[in-house]
Amino acid sequence: MAWFTRDKPAVKREDGEKRVRTEGLWLKCEKCGQIVWRKALEDNFQVCPKCGHHGRLDARTRLAMLFDQGKFEEFDQCLVSTDPLEFVDSKKYSDRLAVSQAATELRDAIISGGGNLNGRRVHVCAMELKFVGGSMGTVVGEVITRAIERSLEHRVPLIIVSASGGARMQEGAISLMQMAKISGALMRLDEARVPYLSVLTDPTTGGVTASFAMLGDLNIAEPGAQIGFAGPRVIEQTIRQKLPAGFQTSEFLLQHGFLDAVVKRADLKSYLSKALDFLLTPQEQIAGVHTQQGAQPGPVTRAS
Ligand SMILES: [Zn+2]
Repeated sequence: MAWFTRDKPAVKREDGEKRVRTEGLWLKCEKCGQIVWRKALEDNFQVCPKCGHHGRLDARTRLAMLFDQGKFEEFDQCLVSTDPLEFVDSKKYSDRLAVSQAATELRDAIISGGGNLNGRRVHVCAMELKFVGGSMGTVVGEVITRAIERSLEHRVPLIIVSASGGARMQEGAISLMQMAKISGALMRLDEARVPYLSVLTDPTTGGVTASFAMLGDLNIAEPGAQIGFAGPRVIEQTIRQKLPAGFQTSEFLLQHGFLDAVVKRADLKSYLSKALDFLLTPQEQIAGVHTQQGAQPGPVTRAS
C-alpha cells in the first residue's frame, strides 16, 4: 500500500507541443488528503508538511539522514540469496528476487553501514520495504548478525531501523532460524554492554517484531507506524473479539508498555545521539568509541 498517491497532471493544453508537464510533481497525502509538492516531501524525508504524517522512507535515504553529511561505508554488499528451496508461489522466488534487485539496486532487503552520527562512530542497518516486502531471509539475517559481531568486535553502538513484513516465507524454516541467530548474537552484544537501539518504522511485523526489533536497549518507533506480530484480522478471528481503536500503532504500543518512546523523524537523529550519550560510559564518551578490549564499563552518564 502506498502512502502517497500520484496526482493527475494539473495543467493540460490542447496545442500538444506546448503542453506543460506537471505530472508527478505533486502528490496527495493519504492522511490529510492535501496536495503536497513532491520536492517539499522529499526535503522533509517523506513527512507530510501539512499534517505530519510519516510516509515510508527507503533504506538509502534513511542512512543518509542518520549519518553525518550522509556519508557511510557499506558492508556485506556481496551477500545474495541462493533460493535454497527453489520456491515457487504465484511466481518463482528467483524471479521475485531479480525484480526486487532491479527495482531497488540492492542485493537484498537491507543496507548495513558504518559512519558517524553527530560525531560518534555507529553501525546502522536499515531495512528496505520495497525488496520482497522488507522480509527477512538468510541474507538479511546474515547481514544483521555480521553487523552485531562487528559492533561487538569494535565496541561500536548498533542501530537497526526495521521496516518489514516479517520472515521471508519463500525461504521457509531457514528464514525463521534467522530470528534465533540474530537474538543469540544480540545477547552477546548485551553481555558486552555495547548499546543497541532499535528503531521501528511503518510497518514492522511478524518475525522481525518477534526478534531483534523488540530487543533493543531502547525500542523507539516513529509516529503512526503499524507494529505487531500477526495481522489484526487474524487476531480478531482467533480471539473472536473486536480490537480496540488504534491497535498495533506506535502510540497504542507506547501506552501499553511495549515501546520506550515514539519519536518524530525530524527528531530521530538527535534522540539517538542523546540516548547513546546516556548509555555509554564516560570513557566511551571521551573516546567517541571504546577501543580497549575487555575493559569494564563505568557508571553511565546522563546527556546534558
Ligand atoms: Zn498530510
